[in-house]
Amino acid sequence: MARVYNFSAGPSMLPESVLEKAADQMLDYEGTGESVMEMSHRSKEFQAIIDKAEADLRELMEIPDNYKVLFLQGGASTQFAAIALNFMNKNHKADYIVTGNWSKKAMQEASRYGDVKVVASSADKNFSYVPDWDYNEFRDDADYLYFCMNETVHGNIIRDIPDVDVPIIADISSCFLSEPIDVSKFAMLYGGAQKNVAPAGLTICIIREDMLGNAADICPTMLNYETMAAKGSMYNTPPCWCIYIAGLVFQWLKKMGGLPEMQRRNQAKAKLLYDALDESKMFNATVRPKDRSMMNAPFVTDSDELNKKFIAGCTENGLINIKGHRSVGGMRASIYNAMPIEGVEKLVAYMKEFEKENTK
Ligand SMILES: *Cc1c(COP(=O)(O)O)cnc(C)c1O
Repeated sequence: MARVYNFSAGPSMLPESVLEKAADQMLDYEGTGESVMEMSHRSKEFQAIIDKAEADLRELMEIPDNYKVLFLQGGASTQFAAIALNFMNKNHKADYIVTGNWSKKAMQEASRYGDVKVVASSADKNFSYVPDWDYNEFRDDADYLYFCMNETVHGNIIRDIPDVDVPIIADISSCFLSEPIDVSKFAMLYGGAQKNVAPAGLTICIIREDMLGNAADICPTMLNYETMAAKGSMYNTPPCWCIYIAGLVFQWLKKMGGLPEMQRRNQAKAKLLYDALDESKMFNATVRPKDRSMMNAPFVTDSDELNKKFIAGCTENGLINIKGHRSVGGMRASIYNAMPIEGVEKLVAYMKEFEKENTK
């Protein structure tokens, strides 16, 4: 069996031991004689799966008791509207920091429902850095402040959480469980699971309880977080299989040593890659060093032809999906939790070999 190293931004690699366990339980989950895929979401077996997944996630992220954990469908993109419909209802105002295409999309979607202000942006340099913010731009009467912590396409990360009195909401799709995070600083954290947690189809929302109960009248029932919280994420059929795999990933993370250990591993992988990029005369990282994402590293050469040749060579060597997003061009290596350091070592070795072969 030849497994490839998949550098895709998502869906992305899952830990091999998780896939093996799922394969092992595929036809018969713990003596039930059925697969989790076939199981009633109202069965006691599935209830145990979702309860354990939630408990393990709470333990991993040290989620305080006054937060709800929701396992929803619709992807992170559905939350762009849901957030506005649930939370932009006191003063009908929200502030957005825009550092890449995901926060931009969230901002544009929210603009359909209220008074949205972009309080800081790095659009002027194609989101290749995190802007400083001017607190005078932030509105004290905003219903919330929103940002995307790790911009998956542009490859930057917001490390300094703004010090404001309004509720803070952050999209953590592509840095979910990659390092410890202080949940108590946020009113809501959320992310699509297909980057760092599980297969596509699951969105995890972590919401402080006092935020619930203010949804707009027009908020669809399926987007109402209060309803979903009251029903334990089972107002309708939840994404059962994804929740099960997420649960296996949480168990894997606990076994690995939790988020401090993942942070250590992720830092080592990112350092290896960025050091190689900084040493190279051919390849350049596109993001300012202090704002570089530990999960998604976009990089370029100064020639489209070389980019193409490098991407093709990577694929031949089992390093797949390294092509960058069209808005940045070049390459992007997404190195989530499940990417072993050997994958990054192999990529760096190939970069060096390619540079040597293609330098006159
Ligand atoms: C992938 C991604 C999204 C969109 O996720 P979907 O589940 O496809 O809607 C939103 N935000 C970030 C940061 C992402 O990486």
